[in-house]
Amino acid sequence: MRIGIPDQAPDGISPDVTAFLKAPQMLINGQSVGGEGGSFDVFNPADGSVLAQVPSGSEADVDRAVLAAKAAMAGAWGGMSGAERTRLMLKLADLIEENGEELAQLETLENGKSIMLSRLVEVASSAEYLRYMAGWATKIRGETFDVSISVPPGTRYTAYTRKEPVGVVAAITPWNFPLNMCVWKVAPALAAGCTVVLKPAEETPLTSLRFAELAREAGFPDGVVNVITGDGATGAALVRHPGVDKITFTGSTEVGKKIGTQAMQTVKPVTLELGGKAPMVFFDDMDLNLLGPATGIGMFFNSGQTCCAGARIYVQKGIYEEAVATLKAITSSLAIGEGMNPANQINPVVSAKHFDHVNRMITQGIADGATPLLDIAAPKQGYYVAPQLFADARSDTAIMQDEVFGPVATITPFETEEEAIAMANDTRYGLGASLWTRDINRVMKLVPQVQAGTVWVNSHNIPDQNMPFGGFKQSGIGREHGTGALDNYLETKSVCVAYT
Ligand code: NAP
Ligand code: MG
Repeated sequence: MRIGIPDQAPDGISPDVTAFLKAPQMLINGQSVGGEGGSFDVFNPADGSVLAQVPSGSEADVDRAVLAAKAAMAGAWGGMSGAERTRLMLKLADLIEENGEELAQLETLENGKSIMLSRLVEVASSAEYLRYMAGWATKIRGETFDVSISVPPGTRYTAYTRKEPVGVVAAITPWNFPLNMCVWKVAPALAAGCTVVLKPAEETPLTSLRFAELAREAGFPDGVVNVITGDGATGAALVRHPGVDKITFTGSTEVGKKIGTQAMQTVKPVTLELGGKAPMVFFDDMDLNLLGPATGIGMFFNSGQTCCAGARIYVQKGIYEEAVATLKAITSSLAIGEGMNPANQINPVVSAKHFDHVNRMITQGIADGATPLLDIAAPKQGYYVAPQLFADARSDTAIMQDEVFGPVATITPFETEEEAIAMANDTRYGLGASLWTRDINRVMKLVPQVQAGTVWVNSHNIPDQNMPFGGFKQSGIGREHGTGALDNYLETKSVCVAYT
């Protein structure tokens, strides 16, 4: 079913969604399979009900998927031209849009997020991302080099590089943008000519499973795209499989460190997109009209469950009182409720476990001396957390240093630019940051001082397929998007030709 109008509630759950939920299956070697490890429940965070039972991928399932991916590299897929890969990827993008409303509803049901975000971000931008990456499949190129090798005397040399697909990619994704994260990994891998085994988060496997069906329908040869569902143990089995040539992971820093350590046992290339604790720095001269988007998009986009969420707000003294009053007013006005109603701006967090985590962080923040500024009620059934702003938080406490990953932010005053930069950088993370000011000279002076993979100016939390995305410090290794994303999936081979 074609994607619905972003700000209109669906007219009930689509019958296609209901049918899909009856028996979602993994995709291994072009076959829909149930898996050998039993099954697990996927829940609807809006009310805690069970949505579907999904296969628990076993070590044997992982093995079959990796072997299928290897065989596809050596078979039909490995022999395809870039143009043929482009065509298949464009077909898949079309199928995502054609089945857009079904995918969007599935995403809202499993993740809890607004149907508007599901339609615009998960579905529409995933289709665009596939199209963007499809274009790169025909533009892979090496270089030629003049070399100065002089032995044996009289021999001449020319060197050039070939860019070759790295091989079988293990892709492991988190629950906060399930379809988006799937496509951010699968699309550049396919453009580069790799094959993929994807393991989505156990909370949100449904759209990745539906994506796999659509990949098969698009005509990708068997084994090119495989999706295995399961928990962290399934992910770990994939990471340690000797047939995997490359690992790409998005998730927490804690799990990223484990995966990186495991990858080094066999010196596998690894890309890690990890956690964040992004600062938003509001200077005296900022346009205060921007506090609306700063709150809705910067702080509380996806109910604060974004790796770049503006979780630490720093406000210059001259506007502190006014900015805090405005942020409180805007936050208090946000509608809280289920994602299927696009009027709701704060939706349930993803799971019971995450609900407990966010609430624990709030309680700990108060115990550590921070002052909650709001007292907002949230619906009792489902995993709803009311948005909260904290003043007086100490920089060495958990609420300032650790990811809450929910609708919670701290607000701290500062006086000078030097103070603001020191505060902004006072974290082990370095994924995103933003500076809010009308002074271009200040922007150009301060941007180089901010330790973050992306620095937004007068905006926050908005990625683009052509703009490198990734982390400084413990927020990760490597960059996604743009040509950098392609490089993650290519090996460079130098060829040195002697002639006389
Ligand atoms: P997570 O707990 O790290 O899990 C991420 C994925 O890794 C899941 O599929 C998980 O499986 C799997 N996994 C867990 N243990 C594993 C192991 N030992 N070996 C292999 N795989 C394993 O993260 P999450 O809670 O899903 O997502 C939230 C985190 O993601 C936050 O820290 C957020 O900042 C980060 N994130 C970062 C970015 C970015 O681009 N930098 C983007 C989005 C999210 P199960 O969950 O099924 O156990
Ligand atoms: Mg998890």
